Amino acid sequence: MKIPVVKQILSSNDQIAAENEKNFRENGVFALNLMAAPGAGKTTFILATIDHLPDSIRPAVIEGDLASTIDADTISQRGVPVIQINTGGGCHLDAPMIRDSLPHFALTDIDLLFVENVGNLVCPSNFNLGTALSVVVSSTAEGHDKPYKYPGIFATADVVILTKADILEVFDFDLEFFERGLKAVNPTAPLFVVSGRTGKGIDTWITWLMNRKDKYQS
Ligand code: MG
Ligand code: ZN
Repeated sequence: MKIPVVKQILSSNDQIAAENEKNFRENGVFALNLMAAPGAGKTTFILATIDHLPDSIRPAVIEGDLASTIDADTISQRGVPVIQINTGGGCHLDAPMIRDSLPHFALTDIDLLFVENVGNLVCPSNFNLGTALSVVVSSTAEGHDKPYKYPGIFATADVVILTKADILEVFDFDLEFFERGLKAVNPTAPLFVVSGRTGKGIDTWITWLMNRKDKYQS
């Protein structure tokens, strides 16, 4: 009896994810699911992206955290609409959490929605949220072996962001080794090497992102 129960849970998540996706499409919202280990620099990366967006693009953020509103407060201070989901210790976001947060937004006033998942490189990729793009964020500080150690999450990425590029040398980060590991599990996802702090690489990433957004909505 155990297997049918597990299937039931997964399919109901997928069903709600499909409803979320429909809701996003109908309201012209391009949503990103950002997944990373704790401390990879997701919030800094989101803010750097928001700062460099074309003026016509209206962003919003859903912050997923085990506890606290620290990241949501930082984003709110920039005047960006933000909703906090505290999972109460849960290690990933799921589709019902996203569905329940959406009524708190004016979706028609949002073009780009960043969903910052709970810091975790294992299970967030197993839960479809209905977002258009899966983004895996990894930082130079975590080391160049991440795609080898967490192949599952890198395999599901539509795009990979390597943050903290400004301190690449400090950590003896072997970019070629990282790229080889990524290509082995995911030959198609492009890699953008950026620094949220200095802004390096952010414009190139945004050009690609806007292209994907246009394709999704055409
Ligand atoms: Mg954060
Ligand atoms: Zn989890």
